[in-house]
Amino acid sequence: MKLHEYQSKALFAQHGIPIPKGRVTGTALEAREIAQELGGRVVVKAQVLVGGRGKAGGIRLAKSPQEAEEAAAQILGMTIKGLPVRKVLVDPAADIRAEIYLGVTNDRAARKPVMMASSAGGVEIEEVARLTPEKIHREHIDPFLGLRDYQARSLAAGIELPREHWKLFGQIAAGLYQAYVESDAVLAEINPLVITGDNQLQALDGKIVLDDNALFRHPDLAEMRDMDEEASAETEARKYGLSYVKLDGEIGCMVNGAGLAMATMDIIKFFGGAPANFLDIGGGAGADKVAAALRIILADPHVKAVMFNIFGGITRCDEVARGILAALAEVNTRVPMVVRLVGTNEEEGRRLLADANMITATSLADAAQKAVAAAKG
Ligand code: GDP
Ligand code: MN
Repeated sequence: MKLHEYQSKALFAQHGIPIPKGRVTGTALEAREIAQELGGRVVVKAQVLVGGRGKAGGIRLAKSPQEAEEAAAQILGMTIKGLPVRKVLVDPAADIRAEIYLGVTNDRAARKPVMMASSAGGVEIEEVARLTPEKIHREHIDPFLGLRDYQARSLAAGIELPREHWKLFGQIAAGLYQAYVESDAVLAEINPLVITGDNQLQALDGKIVLDDNALFRHPDLAEMRDMDEEASAETEARKYGLSYVKLDGEIGCMVNGAGLAMATMDIIKFFGGAPANFLDIGGGAGADKVAAALRIILADPHVKAVMFNIFGGITRCDEVARGILAALAEVNTRVPMVVRLVGTNEEEGRRLLADANMITATSLADAAQKAVAAAKG
């Protein structure tokens, strides 16, 4: 789950990180009032859960409350990368002298958190990593020791931060690490962390991605979830207890079990296809869950074929077949479907699907090859 910029910055502030003193609102009129309170120039920023808002026109400077109202009215009507803007953050405009990147995330290979800093802040860190990887400095953090002062200093030295800022930089790095640990985040980043004209450090933008599996420990954070902003398929999937991740291929996958789902995606790739999603319907899924899963898969316009890979252990193949039939009865589709049903009640499952105009497969390899061919044909 991602937090909005204003939510992330509020969390940062709780950990002693300096942020601009702005406020969030859903109306242009209130944007004007906030600008009035703040006095002087402000920046009006779209609150959507995607990066690159600046380039999309979602960040505008305003010289007066009047201009702030106009900017907010425009931004509140926008859609950025498919997401409607429902809130704007009005912050005092910063006088920016330099933009730094500072972030902490999990390094799975190192099995530790890693803090990264770069003097090339402001732009997306993935771009920096691709074009000028030498500009990213890293410190792995021992989870039992936490971030050590010398590590923050080493990052400050790496990005050639002027000495006068080292003390505050150290406090910000410590605060960021604390925010990351205490919220069970998988990513916490400040981009940009700016040096202002009056020589202060300030977090101008913030991004926090929380670990969904730890959300139960943070009811206050879970409450911040913005339903409007999530891809509707993922919200829908959660409602039915399905684990669904959208990908950009063209073969929709419906599988029971996360390991089998991973193997299914691998074998599709092996035979030259690309999975459109990861989907685990879980063990013992009933027909309604299967029907919901198929609806979600078919709602993706990129899906050119669907592959069912069901291993009936606790899950009964006949239940799955009933779910498929139920979904097909309500969605009108011509997408070819390949089924591999093995295990509990497989004969019954196959018999139910016999008239459903589906491609049957004898093995996983056979199913994957048929799905790849169907997607291409
Ligand atoms: P993002 O594009 O979605 O990552 O949004 P950011 O909040 O990071 O803003 C993008 C860029 O807009 C920053 O890197 C700054 O260069 C600029 N920007 C954001 N806020 C201000 C501000 O208050 N004053 C000025 N001058 N520029 C700003
Ligand atoms: Mn940013």
